Amino acid sequence: MKLSRQFTVFGSAIFCVVVFSLYLMLDHIDHSKNPNGERIQKGQLGILQDKIDHLERLLAENNEIIGNIRDSVINLRETVKDGKMFPEGNMSQGDLELLPPAPALLPIHSEDCQFAARTYSKAADGVQMLDVYDLLSFDNPDGGVWKQGFDISYQDNEWDNEPLQVFVVPHSHNDPGWLKTFDDYYRDQTQHILNNMVVKLHEDSRRKMIWSEISYFSKWWDNIDEQKRDAVRRLIESGQLEVATGGWVMPDEANTHYFALIDQLVEGHQWLERNLGVKPKTGWAVDPFGHTPTQAYLLRQAGLSNMLIQRVHYSVKKHFASQKTLEFFWRQNWDQDSSSDILCHMMPFYSYDVPHTCGPDPKICCQFDFKRLPGGRISCPWRIPPQAITDNNVQERAQTLLDQYRKKSKLFRTNVLLAPLGDDFRYTEAVEWDQQFENYQKLFDYMNSHPELHVQAQFGTISDYFEALRKSTGMDPVGMNVGQLALPVLSGDFFTYADRDDHYWSGYFTSRPFYKRLDRVLESHLRAAEVLYSLTLANIQKYGQPNDYPAVDNYKLLTEARRNLGLFQHHDAITGTGKDWVVVDYGTRLLVVYNPTEQARMSMVTVYVTTPKVRVLNAVGHVVRAQVSAVWNDVSHAAADLSFVAQAAPLGLSVYQLMEGMEPRTEAAKYMILQDGRQISISELEHFQQFYQQDAAPVHIENPHLKLSISTATGLLEKMSLKEDDSEHLIKVEFVWYGTTSNKDKSGAYLFLPDKEATIYSPSQPPVVRVTKGPLFSEVTTTFTHITHTLRLYNIQGVEGQSVEICNTVDIRGETNHEIAMRITSDLNSKDRFFTDLNGYQVQPRKTLAKLPLQANFYPMTSMVYLQDSSARLSLLTAQSLGAASLKSGQLEVIMDRRLNQDDNRGLGQGVLDNKITANSFRLLLEKRSSAEEESAPYSYPSILSHMSYMYLNHPLISMAVSQRSESPSLTPYSPLSASFPCDMHLVNLRAIQSKVRGGPSEQAALILHRKGFDCGFSNRNTALLCTTTRGKVHLEKLLTDLKLKSITPVSLSLMHTYNSDADPQEISLKPMEIRTYRLQLS
Ligand SMILES: [Zn+2]
Repeated sequence: MKLSRQFTVFGSAIFCVVVFSLYLMLDHIDHSKNPNGERIQKGQLGILQDKIDHLERLLAENNEIIGNIRDSVINLRETVKDGKMFPEGNMSQGDLELLPPAPALLPIHSEDCQFAARTYSKAADGVQMLDVYDLLSFDNPDGGVWKQGFDISYQDNEWDNEPLQVFVVPHSHNDPGWLKTFDDYYRDQTQHILNNMVVKLHEDSRRKMIWSEISYFSKWWDNIDEQKRDAVRRLIESGQLEVATGGWVMPDEANTHYFALIDQLVEGHQWLERNLGVKPKTGWAVDPFGHTPTQAYLLRQAGLSNMLIQRVHYSVKKHFASQKTLEFFWRQNWDQDSSSDILCHMMPFYSYDVPHTCGPDPKICCQFDFKRLPGGRISCPWRIPPQAITDNNVQERAQTLLDQYRKKSKLFRTNVLLAPLGDDFRYTEAVEWDQQFENYQKLFDYMNSHPELHVQAQFGTISDYFEALRKSTGMDPVGMNVGQLALPVLSGDFFTYADRDDHYWSGYFTSRPFYKRLDRVLESHLRAAEVLYSLTLANIQKYGQPNDYPAVDNYKLLTEARRNLGLFQHHDAITGTGKDWVVVDYGTRLLVVYNPTEQARMSMVTVYVTTPKVRVLNAVGHVVRAQVSAVWNDVSHAAADLSFVAQAAPLGLSVYQLMEGMEPRTEAAKYMILQDGRQISISELEHFQQFYQQDAAPVHIENPHLKLSISTATGLLEKMSLKEDDSEHLIKVEFVWYGTTSNKDKSGAYLFLPDKEATIYSPSQPPVVRVTKGPLFSEVTTTFTHITHTLRLYNIQGVEGQSVEICNTVDIRGETNHEIAMRITSDLNSKDRFFTDLNGYQVQPRKTLAKLPLQANFYPMTSMVYLQDSSARLSLLTAQSLGAASLKSGQLEVIMDRRLNQDDNRGLGQGVLDNKITANSFRLLLEKRSSAEEESAPYSYPSILSHMSYMYLNHPLISMAVSQRSESPSLTPYSPLSASFPCDMHLVNLRAIQSKVRGGPSEQAALILHRKGFDCGFSNRNTALLCTTTRGKVHLEKLLTDLKLKSITPVSLSLMHTYNSDADPQEISLKPMEIRTYRLQLS
């Protein structure tokens, strides 16, 4: 049994890395083809098993990385014999000896409160998406040939003075895994596309092509010879081939966390810099299912000037087309000037395939997709096939196509027109290149040689298009200066996407929550490994390299983990498992605890021990208070969960020792079990006592901050009291079911199409309610047929004690066409307004609209959802991306899992039936508001406490059991920083940069910092935070304990551009919400 547990433990830690690929296969989301369009072959489940085995091996590698890195850091410390650990004077008695005492009030500089508190003023020519949603009726009239639009007409003489300039941009969308695996797609399609590209672009210098997925490109690059590489370099230099975006993948934009969005962008851009010297200028995102301003911000910070998006609600597209606002400067909601602006083109029609890109009529445009010529494998669903261009038909064909170009052009403000030419995995065969390029060239030649047509048509890259657009508006080529023909400024996001009718893509916010959780675990582990690895390298540079430290091998593993994580961010991939836990038995008595957060911290650590008689000692030999709890699937044995409050310096390693033996400071938890409101006595509960209370009374659990009142009959929360002012709030937890509609189109992996409002979950069996009371935490665990629901309160003064931990383990494998949600009903008067985050980076205010169907009111929740009234805010912080809504005032709802029998006709060809038992984790935080923000502002910010609680939830202390061998040196704590980072400053990553010559690391690292925006308008209660705010300033040299700052240079987000700065490089200064990267060398 021990072995299998151990396997589970390592499995869960390790699982992170691997899971990326599961997504590749399991979870691809497709591109809605037109209703009659081509069908992609069905997923082959048979190949999955092998792949999963392979993935598990990869996972094992990831765990090894962290283990190796941890060992080397520890060993290095020993070699160096540097005793500077925690600052002296803090080694006093008791449990709190390791950290400085926390101030009673959160010390926030008043200037740091101004950002969130400013009054909102809209840009002059501004489009605010919240206003657009208020304005639109969301009706869906038949628009004629452009079904979701309107008739477009023009005058023949409109281009007489200034000809229409058409850029036909050949592209091929290569999903890194969907119906096939990454490797299979590469073997069967992608490598042929790229090989043919080299040949076919060289045949004619007028031909162009864009490429965006570096995951594929780098694999191909590794497989081609130097001659072909030179040919590629020439194509890039001549401008025939352009790398657009240049990320590792084209990421999903709803469920992804900004850590991962940045990481995959850096990985792609770093690869480009090392191998091609290319700096992408333009973003290209044709397939993500809705778009986030976070990605716009990241691209801008990476130095890109332009971007393109495609999957936006059809009503929004139609409205923008009528207003000619499909091209705009995308500005962040929180931006006070124009510093975040990026020029954005929104594609107007239904899809990015050829039928929906030349103009409004797909029946006509399809005739200009020459891959569909008669006799080929695909045809036009509108039944009019393309004709090869000949001298006989060229005039008619050119005029027909030009008519579409002109109509499309009427939706934009300039005479420059973009016409993408491609689809998924296009240009695989040489003949397809010939068909497209030769026929189009004939059309262009005809158009360009007839001045009376007033058109200049050509192949182009996406940056060719933007360059011409900028020129025609008088803008400079890269800057954001508005020219003589101003484009509007837009703020807000493009969720929730609908491609037709009431088909809202809110299902994929939740689909396969297991992987969504696993993704967050992987991100947290990768970040921890990155930071430790960079610190290790710096130590090596300072003190010399120990012989046995595998710096290059570890770097290769890290690179693999980064790329796996990158692939996982592809527009479908994303993950999770339960708590990270470690088996401690007689062989492993030392516990190293790593604090991945950049502030000093006290948090609960729980490990599995083989005896409840155990004593916990900290690094200075003091006994630490501990709690042992029963392991419920094994109550008769001596095993137990051991919990204690570990303290760790920022980014530091603490060491704890576990000794067998009776210890009064280790207390056993007490239990009460109830069913149907009556207490049940458990006989075999050998090492633990039971307690009793009056049957009918609600159960109470409490800590210094909170008191919860829980029904004995249902085991669910009913009331929550804040001890700071003795206020009691009605806060009720329930579970609810959704079914799926009886219409032809039903819910699937992407779409949420519920039958009606949710019905309350009422299981036939009354649940078993288990109450745990102990010195360090108390909890109530309620077991229903489909859910095990746990509410836990930590008895900790400080962050961990301020919120309620909620864990729902969901198993709906026995159901069909059901979705299960957690609903929290409060007495807050929030009306129709609530807030969800975007990518864990920013908060987007939402409004529940009665004119929209229920499923349209669900939004992605990557890190949190909250609602508020003038006196309180209720936040649900999450450890996995899920779909969330507030369908009634005071109510929050989160879909937790979905099991669906059928495909939703978006190309996947299967339902969602591979559900796994999934543990969803949350923190519920109730805060008193002391100053109400302006209700109409299009931005909102979490409190510092909320930010910190989120960090604790998603970056738990990492505990690692270490075998204590007599020959190994004794372990001591490690503390790389002399103080916490400011409370609002987040170390996104400290990422070792790859050496240009070898596969290993260089001496430099990328320091990525984010200054969070936060709202001060909350009660300044004792949050016991061990940090303060500093108006965005960090003096790195002063923060480091014994490492020195050898050099620091400000660079763009992905290190493509180096900025010259007059400012003191020692002092880093960030504006609120800003993300900055520095090239750093420590020694
Ligand atoms: Zn795709």
